[in-house]
Amino acid sequence: MIYLDNAATTKMFEKGAEIYKEYACHSFFNPSANYSQAIAIAKELDSARGVLFNKLGASKGQMIFTSGATESNNLAIMGGRRNGKWEYVFSMGEHPSVYNAGKELERQGFIVHFVGLQPNGQIDYRQLESVVNEKTRLISVMHVSNETGAINDLTLVDKIRKQHCPKALLHIDGVQAFCKLDFSVDDFSADFYTISAHKFHGPKGVGALYVRNINDIKPIVFGGGQEGGYRSGTENVGGIMAMKYAVESIDICKNFEKVCKLKEIMTAILSQNNVISIINDGNFSPYILSVSFAGVNGETLMRKLQDNGVVVGMGSACSAKKSGNRILESMGKVKEEIKSHIRISFNEFLSENEVENAGKIILQTYQELWEKVK
Ligand code: PMP
Repeated sequence: MIYLDNAATTKMFEKGAEIYKEYACHSFFNPSANYSQAIAIAKELDSARGVLFNKLGASKGQMIFTSGATESNNLAIMGGRRNGKWEYVFSMGEHPSVYNAGKELERQGFIVHFVGLQPNGQIDYRQLESVVNEKTRLISVMHVSNETGAINDLTLVDKIRKQHCPKALLHIDGVQAFCKLDFSVDDFSADFYTISAHKFHGPKGVGALYVRNINDIKPIVFGGGQEGGYRSGTENVGGIMAMKYAVESIDICKNFEKVCKLKEIMTAILSQNNVISIINDGNFSPYILSVSFAGVNGETLMRKLQDNGVVVGMGSACSAKKSGNRILESMGKVKEEIKSHIRISFNEFLSENEVENAGKIILQTYQELWEKVK
């Protein structure tokens, strides 16, 4: 099998799994307890915080461990909410864990703006500029789209914020960017930045939220006061330590170069058929390739590919079961393109040969399906 759905999840590092086992079976102490073994674990968690912090290039702030990006996003948005006449701004491209939190704020009576996307998948900066104002409490824009790989210009988003609503908080869902792109959260003065371990060879069910000023959030889960009171519940120690290992092991720039080459190979193969439309007009992550195969149904193609040994995605696994596609629609894609869309996503361990083979299989499988429907 050639696995090309790495934006949905990645294979965990073997060594990370060993580390997890060590903390599950041997160093299993509760980091909130008072004896020395437990205190040592709490210190190790703090060292993991430091590692994440450094990788994010943050000059100040805190790192709160969570159960993954869905929780981190909810903590930033629902925990960052304030009562009163505040307004909230989201892009139409956001993952459901952000978009639906925005919808919930709307149900709670807040004014919420959903800003559309440009045809290249980035947020419409002009529209953003037109909706923000001195009542804006929070702007939430993802770093890299999990659907298309489009990279938002966060420096520009920050500039718009500073110009029109300097008091507004900026939340970035960085799930598809962290450990993949070389950046610092200080580049765009992010107040919150969301991380999920299973997108970079860490375990599922663990992540973090970077918070610049802790006074900007309130907890949304109440209990024993772990994570400084901002996220109660015993920490997933093994998961956090395996995530720390993944962060330390990843060489962002080296992987970036390698994955660029893989995407190039796939793009060149698929471009041989001129009715295949590849979304690549703009600034995109090399890890994600979004493609529409004219005339065939994306889901049918995905299943045939699976039979032929190539696993691809159909966009966000969390929304794959829903009909329609809010993100591609917002980019102005027509129904036909949306129906025939698949997402191919890479990791740094794939060989050029594997990607070349997968590309040929995708092309051939499409051509066979096309022959049947035309
Ligand atoms: N945001 C983005 C951009 C994602 O791609 C995902 C995973 N599909 C999530 C949030 C949710 O992550 P998690 O599985 O850690 O809750």
